[in-house]
Amino acid sequence: ALNVPDRKVDSVCPYCGVGCQLTYNVKDDKILYVEGRDGPANHKRLCVKGRYGFDYAHHPQRLTVPLIRRADAPKRGDFVMNPDNVMDVFREASWEEALDFAAGKLKAILDTHGKKALAGFGSAKGSNEEAYLFQKLVRTGFGSNNVDHCTRLCHASSVAALLEGIGSGAVSNPVMDVTKADVVIVIGANPTVNHPVAATWIKNAVKNGTKLIVADPRRSDLVRLAHRHLQFKPDTDVAMLNAMMHVIVHEGLVDEDFINSRTIGYEDLKRNVEGYSPEAMAPICGIDAETLRDTARLYATSKGSMILWGMGVSQHVHGTDNARCLIALALMTGQIGRPGTGLHPLRGQNNVQGASDAGLIPMMYPDYQRVDHPGAQEKFEKLWGMPLDTEPGLTVVEVMHAAKEGKIRGMYIMGENPAMSDPDANHAREAMAALDHLVVQDIFLTETAYLADVILPASAFPEKTGTFTNTDRLVQLGRQAVPPPGQAKQDLWIIQEIARRIGLSWKYGHVSEVFDEMRKSMASIAGITWERLEREHAVTYPCPVEGDPGHPVVFIDQFPTASGRARFVPADIIPAAERPDTEYPKVLITGRQLEHWHTGSMTRRAGVLDAIEPDPVALVHPLDLEELGALPGDIITIESRRGKVALYARADESSPRGAVFVPFCYYEAAINKLTNPALDPFGKIPEFKYCAVRLTLG
Ligand code: SF4
Repeated sequence: ALNVPDRKVDSVCPYCGVGCQLTYNVKDDKILYVEGRDGPANHKRLCVKGRYGFDYAHHPQRLTVPLIRRADAPKRGDFVMNPDNVMDVFREASWEEALDFAAGKLKAILDTHGKKALAGFGSAKGSNEEAYLFQKLVRTGFGSNNVDHCTRLCHASSVAALLEGIGSGAVSNPVMDVTKADVVIVIGANPTVNHPVAATWIKNAVKNGTKLIVADPRRSDLVRLAHRHLQFKPDTDVAMLNAMMHVIVHEGLVDEDFINSRTIGYEDLKRNVEGYSPEAMAPICGIDAETLRDTARLYATSKGSMILWGMGVSQHVHGTDNARCLIALALMTGQIGRPGTGLHPLRGQNNVQGASDAGLIPMMYPDYQRVDHPGAQEKFEKLWGMPLDTEPGLTVVEVMHAAKEGKIRGMYIMGENPAMSDPDANHAREAMAALDHLVVQDIFLTETAYLADVILPASAFPEKTGTFTNTDRLVQLGRQAVPPPGQAKQDLWIIQEIARRIGLSWKYGHVSEVFDEMRKSMASIAGITWERLEREHAVTYPCPVEGDPGHPVVFIDQFPTASGRARFVPADIIPAAERPDTEYPKVLITGRQLEHWHTGSMTRRAGVLDAIEPDPVALVHPLDLEELGALPGDIITIESRRGKVALYARADESSPRGAVFVPFCYYEAAINKLTNPALDPFGKIPEFKYCAVRLTLG
C-alpha cells in the first residue's frame, strides 16, 4: 500500500521550544506523515508546524553537494535571492576540496590576522552535541570566544536578568505548571502562534478555573479566554510593572518571610518603586490605575501565580530591565519555588535552551561558567588540553559591526541565517559580503549561504541523532529517521573535519561520546546517561547524579547563587532607542506567524504550511489602513531609516493603532532590513520590537 510506513522512528519536533515528541512514519526513506507522541510536554498533541512541517527535508532545493563560489561571482549585500541561478554563482566541489578550502582559508586568516579575526555562529536548530563541538572548535581551534547564536536575538536579556537575579538562566517551572496555577500572567508572548501546544495547556487551565492575565500591546488570540487583557502601550513594560510592585508594597501584599529568608536587595527595590504610583504610570502605560491595582492584588494574593513571557519582553533596549521587573514581582510575593508558580521565559527555537547550556555564547563556557572566571577557565583548559582566551567574545550584532570594520575577516556559520534574522539586515549582509572568507553549513541555499565562499551541505532534523533541550529544561533524544540526501553529511562530521584541518586531533565516534564529554563539564546534566535517554526519551535537568529523577520545579529551598539568595534589581524607565516622529510616525513590531518558523528556510519549503501562508503580509489596524487609503490585500511599502520593503496589507484588529506587525520569515520582504540594531546593554539583544517607520500605499 502506498501510505503504509515501513518503519516508525521516535523523535522531537524541529520547531519551537515546547519540545513536542513525535513519531516519523517512514517508507522508502521518505517521511509519509508525523504523529504526536506521549511526551512530557505534549502528551500526543502537535500544532500545525509539527504535524505538517516535515516535507521540507525532501524538498528539491536541498543542498546535496558542496559548493564553492565561482571566482567571477560578485558578493552583493543587498539582493533578492534566486535559488534558480545557483550554478551561476557557485560550482560543485568534492568534499575534500570544499573542506580543504573552507578550513584552509580560515587557518590562513588566523595565522595572518590573529585569533580575533575569526568568528563562528552555531545554531539552536542543531543538537546539544553539535552546539558543544562548535563552541569547542571556536574556543580551541579559532582561539577566541567569538562564538554566538540566535539566543542573542531571542532571550539574551531574559537570561542576563535571570542569572543576575536568581543564578540560573533557565525556567523555574515547566509550562505544564499553568494547570496548577491560580493566576497565570502571559506577557509579551503570543503562545497560540509561537508555542501552540503550550497555549493548549494554558487554555485547559483556564477552563479549570485559572485566571489568565494577558499583558500585551497586541490583542493576541489568548485574550479571548483571558480574565483580563492589559493592552499596555508598546515600550512601557517597566512603567506598568513598577506600578504593580508599588501597589504590592503599599498594600502590604509582600511575602515578608520569603523576602527575609530568600532574597537580598529588597530595600533598594522598595525605594525605587516608590515613585511609580499607578496614578502616575497610568497615562504612560495606558492602563488605568484601578486595573493596575487589581491586577497586582490578584497576582500577589493567589495561592499560586506564574509568569510566562516572550520576546515582547526581551527584544528591547530595556529587555533586561523588563525581565528584572518580572523577577522582582515573583520574589517580593514569594510566587516562586513551588508548583504552579515561578518564571518561565518561553524559549523560541527547539534547542535554544540546550545550545546556550552547551556554551554557544561568547561570555560563557558550557553550563554558564564565565570565560573570565579563573576557576572555569582552568577547568576547561584541563578538559580540552590547551590554553584558552579569557576575554569574552563578540555577540551576534557586534560580530557584524566588526566584520564591516574589517576586524573580523573570516566566519563559519552553521545553520543560522543572519542575512534574514539580524537587525538592519542590509548592514549584516554587507558585513558578510565584506568578509575575506565565509563558510556556511546548511541544508538550503539560505540568504546567508548566498553570500558564502563555500557551502557545506548538512543534515536536517530527521536525518540526525542527538539531544535537544526544550523550554522546560527537558533533555530529549531526537533520532535519525532518514538518511541525508545526496552527498549531504551529518553536521557533527563536518565540524570535526573542519576541526581536523585547523589542527585539532578530535576523534569522536558516536554522538554519545560528545554527550559523555559534555556531562564531564556540566553539573546540570552530569547524571543523565545516554542509555537512560534511549530508554526514557527525556530527562529534566538539573540531574547532577545518575539515578536522580530530575527536577521540573527548582529553587524550592534556595537559589543557585553564591549566597543561596535571590537578588532584587530595580529598574527605571528607559525609552526605545528610536521613537516615532513626524517623518516616521508609526511603530514596527516584528515577530512570527503560526505557519512559518523564524526566517522561513524550512517552513516556506513545507507544502502545507506554505500553501496556508504563501505571501509576505503586514498586519495593520483597519483604521490605520483606512487612513492610508489602503484596502486589505493592497500592496503597501514600509520604510524605516535603514531600508524599505513592499508587502500585502492585512487588516488586523489585534494590532494597536499606530503600530504595524510584520513576520520576519519572508525573504522577498525581509523586514529586518528595517529593524533597529540598538542593543540592550546587558543582554546585547537588539530592539526588534520597536522602531519608527512610515507606511505608503503601493
Ligand atoms: Fe512543534 Fe512547537 Fe508545534 Fe510542538 S508546539 S508541534 S514543538 S512547533
